[in-house]
Amino acid sequence: MERTFAIIKPDAVERNISGKIISKIEEAGFKIVGMKKIHLSKSQAEGFYYVHKERPFFNDLCTFMSRSPVIVMVLEKENAIAAWRTLMGATNPANAEPGTIRKEFAKNIEENSSHGSDAPETAAFEIPYFFSALELV
Ligand code: GDP
Repeated sequence: MERTFAIIKPDAVERNISGKIISKIEEAGFKIVGMKKIHLSKSQAEGFYYVHKERPFFNDLCTFMSRSPVIVMVLEKENAIAAWRTLMGATNPANAEPGTIRKEFAKNIEENSSHGSDAPETAAFEIPYFFSALELV
């Protein structure tokens, strides 16, 4: 069993489609071992995305991620990291496969409805950024 970190991003929470995304997660066989709704500050978003700090869209991304609440989750499944990235689809919804979350729900390359860890080391940073061990059940 592997754990990964997921976010339902502000664009999706704002449009009241969190439930549709959570349904897809459950239908795909993930166990939700942690979940909460939070409103990130700009500096908390910057800390989360620090690996992207040199990228041209960093400021816009952190402004977007802190403009309204998000739902953060820890998902468990065999090969959860790769499986969640497959279910999300490509970063740019124009390139995402049919049936993926980003194809169905994303507004554009930035407001793309969901986040997922891209490697075990990333998940090992991202999960404890938001959750204590006691919150994962
Ligand atoms: P991910 O792993 O698929 O989320 O993609 P990345 O790690 O490359 O980028 C992190 C997040 O930054 C993406 O999910 C988007 O929200 C945003 N992003 C990525 N590329 C771009 C871009 O070219 N322009 C803008 N405005 N945002 C981007």
